[in-house]
Amino acid sequence: MIRLTFYIILAILLALVAAWVVAHPGDVRLVWQSWEIQMSFATFAALALLYSLALWGVGRVWRMISNLAPLKSAVRRRRQRGEAELDKGWSALALDDREMARRHARRARNSLGERNDVLRLLSACESDKKRQEILNILRRREETAAFALKELLDDALKGGDYGLALSLARELNDRQPGVASVLRRIVDIEIHYGHWQAAEKSLIAAHKKSAYSEAEFKHLSALLHYVQAVEADVAGQKDLALTEAQTALKKDASFLPAASLAARLLLTRKETGKARKIIENTWKIRPHPELAELFLDLAPQESPTERFRRVDHLVRFNPDHRESRHLLAAAAIAAGHWPEARQALDRVVKADQATSRTWQLYALLEQKQKQDMAAAESYLAKARTAPAEAAWHCKNCGYRSAHYAATCPECHRFDSLDWKDG
Ligand SMILES: [Zn+2]
Repeated sequence: MIRLTFYIILAILLALVAAWVVAHPGDVRLVWQSWEIQMSFATFAALALLYSLALWGVGRVWRMISNLAPLKSAVRRRRQRGEAELDKGWSALALDDREMARRHARRARNSLGERNDVLRLLSACESDKKRQEILNILRRREETAAFALKELLDDALKGGDYGLALSLARELNDRQPGVASVLRRIVDIEIHYGHWQAAEKSLIAAHKKSAYSEAEFKHLSALLHYVQAVEADVAGQKDLALTEAQTALKKDASFLPAASLAARLLLTRKETGKARKIIENTWKIRPHPELAELFLDLAPQESPTERFRRVDHLVRFNPDHRESRHLLAAAAIAAGHWPEARQALDRVVKADQATSRTWQLYALLEQKQKQDMAAAESYLAKARTAPAEAAWHCKNCGYRSAHYAATCPECHRFDSLDWKDG
């Protein structure tokens, strides 16, 4: 509408100008060398207008040609086809159909060339060697380098190439510092190599970037000192072993293996007071049969009554725990304190925490107190079907043992053993 109004106004203006020119006649004369052209001013004006229109027309046609509209739409269609192939490829990959994903990805590459998104899809569905080549192309591109490094790092870890994995993880950390998952991997790889001090350094750096929770950090710090204590102990460096075990305990007072090792080392040095302190402090947090054994070793020559008194003192640090009651019941039976023994065991049963050890202690009590072998036998039968004693369990492979190891002896996973029932 606006356009039409504009053309009408233009036409009126042109008519007015033409009328004015006709009303004011005159001549235009062009002379060049021996050539002479003469025309009325109206003819000249009309020719000038026609010339302008012709120029405008030629301009329009040129623009149309230079736009190459049909070619442009062909390119657009090709790009749309390629992007559809990309979407289909990711969908196939989500359904775990790698072969189909690969086919779509290759078609996408034919339409779109080696765009980052095409190569990313290809890297996800091509087999090993081609995947490596593609990832190395992406690694050289600024915007996809971190993605490629992370994928290469995963591959190196999967393939067990820890040396390559460590250098890739460090490169990734240099490029994008402070990423929690990368920092954790650096710690894991250093642990794999047994580079305990380097691992601790990386752990501290990672913790500063909140890559570990406070509890994880404390536990892992303790564990790293504990493994150094064990190595020193095996190598006969007892002083170093003790220092490392004590450092481990300072990092995490609830870390049982360190308490047990430190107490054992102190015991061999005849520092029984210090050993007892460690056992008591740890018993407060986490009573454990290994600690109980060490506690009894503090005074191997004592009488059963003296032992009962000492045990009674220890269990007061954590009186409701099943380990406390078992230890007290065993000492009470040995000292002939029958009511105390029975009371300790009854409390375990009442708390619904009885294990095979509980029933074995009942059997022993029946045998020692009343010489009632039939009752003892019936308790032993109960013991055979009762839940087993707590033990160290590998959360990775299910390995079970009464003794702790920082690396699972079965599946070699580090820090995979937890103390639990069953
Ligand atoms: Zn295991």
